[in-house]
Amino acid sequence: MKFTELDLKPGILKALQKKGYEDLTPIQEQTFPHVLSGKDLIALAQTGSGKTAACAIPVVQSVDPSIKEVQALILVPTRELALQYVDEIAWIAKETDVSTFAVYGGFSMDIQKSKLAHGVQILVATPGRLIDLLYNSDLRLAEVRYFVLDEADEMLNQGFLTDIEFVFSCMIHEHHTMLFSATMPNEIKHLSKNYLDNPEIFELIADQKAPSSLKHCFEQVAPRRRFETLLKLIKDEDPKQVILFCSSRRNCDTLYDHLKKEVKSVEQIHGGLDQNKRTSLFRRFKRLDIRFLVATDIASRGLDFSHTDLVINYDLPQNPEAYTHRTGRTARMGREGKAVTFVGNRDFGKLKMILRVNRIDAEWIGETPDMSKASAGKKKRRRRPSGKKRPGPKRADGQKAEGQSATAKKKRRRRRKPKTQE
Ligand code: ADP
Ligand code: MG
Repeated sequence: MKFTELDLKPGILKALQKKGYEDLTPIQEQTFPHVLSGKDLIALAQTGSGKTAACAIPVVQSVDPSIKEVQALILVPTRELALQYVDEIAWIAKETDVSTFAVYGGFSMDIQKSKLAHGVQILVATPGRLIDLLYNSDLRLAEVRYFVLDEADEMLNQGFLTDIEFVFSCMIHEHHTMLFSATMPNEIKHLSKNYLDNPEIFELIADQKAPSSLKHCFEQVAPRRRFETLLKLIKDEDPKQVILFCSSRRNCDTLYDHLKKEVKSVEQIHGGLDQNKRTSLFRRFKRLDIRFLVATDIASRGLDFSHTDLVINYDLPQNPEAYTHRTGRTARMGREGKAVTFVGNRDFGKLKMILRVNRIDAEWIGETPDMSKASAGKKKRRRRPSGKKRPGPKRADGQKAEGQSATAKKKRRRRRKPKTQE
């Protein structure tokens, strides 16, 4: 179906035309009439399938620019996603009078407050900063008609459930809730049962784990030869743009220090950098001003980098889901992309699980290792010595989740591992 067949405002159609959007993607085609009709919905679709515009276009179409209050509220788990989302809404709304803005932690609250005071119809927010603003500014949600949770599974992963419930409790008036996610863990079912009104569920991920234009390669690396293997890989592949994922900030630092001596145009991004730096890196990487980005999992969720043709898992991802999200940064919208995962001798058990759950036929660079003896089952939990506290939730880069508010900290629940749909 073409966008021109929809009854969209001329300003929106003009923007879509300029951007080169002609046909709706499958998730857009399915959800569009439901968003417009104002029904609650849950949309599950693989990464890179166009979920942002699936929500943003009908929302820009529906809000009333003459009302200066927030009418659509979009919650996202990270600051970079907030920026990406608001950029997407901004170009869709460019030829209209609809105003959009993003609020997130690490940025002046005063500036955010004054922008909000001028009237914003579509607000994108990370949960922590939104709640700070609800407590400390005139921001009210009484006019919100659309409440959107993007990357809902990741928000719950990061322990934002209590915050999300708090935001729901601030909106006792009638509104429509839309949940966009790549997976459907039990927590989402629970959330939907409690807060959504008979939602329509669109599921476009059941049979397709990852884009078919994505090639999954694996390479066994000998101890202490990881970096050498990397340099050879970069030389052989000659990629246009690469993200190199590491499992911790420290690994990021080390790889970045070594890599910048060998190649040009390399930067690193992780939760320890200040927000201005993160924002500028993210925008420069999107513009292809940076060729190599060394990153923690902070860059693995939802971010849309259309030039990235190679993802390297320098360290093995923690679980099958993390693998999907990291590698989903390439091969977006049918483009060709490649993921190369480095595998050490101790990684076989976890790798087997990643391959099994994600239904990947591994293609090996170099020799195919014998993994027959490794177990893909879950590790047995060791009992913690009595008296020791259970450690708090940690993110992959060892930091607490960005923007967690007091409510989340106080009432943090024991989080079950989300089950992937696939
Ligand atoms: P998701 O949220 O499902 O991971 P995104 O919304 O980030 O995916 O979209 C992935 C890419 O597809 C983006 O670069 C976006 O600009 C592009 N895109 C989305 N919808 C369309 C469309 N209808 N036609 C062409 N490109 C599109
Ligand atoms: Mg998305």
